[in-house]
Amino acid sequence: MNTPIETATRYCPRHLLSQFLTSNGTKDTWIWCPTTNGKFSTKSVCSLLAPANSQQWAALWSPHIPLKWSVLLWRLILNSIPVDETVKEKGVPLASKCSCCPQPQEESSLHLFFRSDTADQVWSELSHLLHFSNREVSAVTYGVTAFLARSEIIATSGRLVRCTFMAALWEIWCSRNKARFQDQGMTAKHIINRTMLSIRAICISFKFQKVPQPCLAALHQTEHDMEELKSRTPTIVQWITPPSGRLKLNVDGAFMRTSGTAGGGGILRDHEGNMCWAFARAYHDLNSSLAAEAMALNDGLSICCSKGVSEVLVETDSLNLLQLVTKQISSQWDLTCIMHDIAAKSLNLKAEIAHVPRGANRVADCLASSAMSYPRFVIWSPRATCPLLYHLDKGPQ
Ligand SMILES: [Zn+2]
Repeated sequence: MNTPIETATRYCPRHLLSQFLTSNGTKDTWIWCPTTNGKFSTKSVCSLLAPANSQQWAALWSPHIPLKWSVLLWRLILNSIPVDETVKEKGVPLASKCSCCPQPQEESSLHLFFRSDTADQVWSELSHLLHFSNREVSAVTYGVTAFLARSEIIATSGRLVRCTFMAALWEIWCSRNKARFQDQGMTAKHIINRTMLSIRAICISFKFQKVPQPCLAALHQTEHDMEELKSRTPTIVQWITPPSGRLKLNVDGAFMRTSGTAGGGGILRDHEGNMCWAFARAYHDLNSSLAAEAMALNDGLSICCSKGVSEVLVETDSLNLLQLVTKQISSQWDLTCIMHDIAAKSLNLKAEIAHVPRGANRVADCLASSAMSYPRFVIWSPRATCPLLYHLDKGPQ
């Protein structure tokens, strides 16, 4: 059989071949066609990738814009952000449920970034700065490129507007990932605060001059919010004993998304910090850490009921669970039954449920993490050797 070269020399006109083939005995080598000298350069890749209308391309890759924002927007334009809809389009079957709305819907880029309840709040809060209406975005690629190509964007105010738009998209994406993978609820306020913090950092590091008044006002507002937030955060996080004569139940759930294993644990203590009992239990067929948190709370309350406890203070480190219990957010369909159980038992036990930082819930946290190693539901009495060191919650010794 002839090699391609032999075929070429037989059939191809010699004057054409001489332009492409050399036969002076040099070694074969790779040629990067887009450059004239045949050598690879990132600059040539950049010009290859740039769309014909490069105005928004230049706006996207600008020195004062963090690369992660540029990459996110670029991927949004290419529809390659792995939201549920995009993953499904690639042939991965999954049941989609967004993290951005109290009534979950199917998650698409358009929904998450522009149409969801959270996005709606974010954009309407920023609308006086951006003069942008998320409701008018009917397709993500077009919406993003149209914003970047806006001709009225000039000088400092223009840069800031662009940065704010990009930062908000970035924060929505981060917040969605935290909701999805770390069980932290998405809130518009948090997204806006973080967006404005980034913008402030950019103004300072690039020494932006003549920052327009509406931006200044917005940045100033965030500063207040952050200070308020700081002053409310206690510096030492530690478990606190209940008031005299009261009992306190700490519960926690653990969920490993990779292995699908889940567990829950809890401990009841008196006003001196002595353990009344503790439990740990492995759960099966759960699909979120919130479900594990709810199961653990339900188990803790069940034991209280069976042991004749009549009044109890309860602490969880899951803000989502607390919001579910107190009906600040509506229940996901798969948690309806368990939330119903919890509500009935809470009423029975006159349970007062509060949220504490994770650092004040360390024993329950340990129990929940170790629960997966117990084949059965384990309850330890005060005299039994509980495998955990419940002085953990007593803070650094
Ligand atoms: Zn949503």
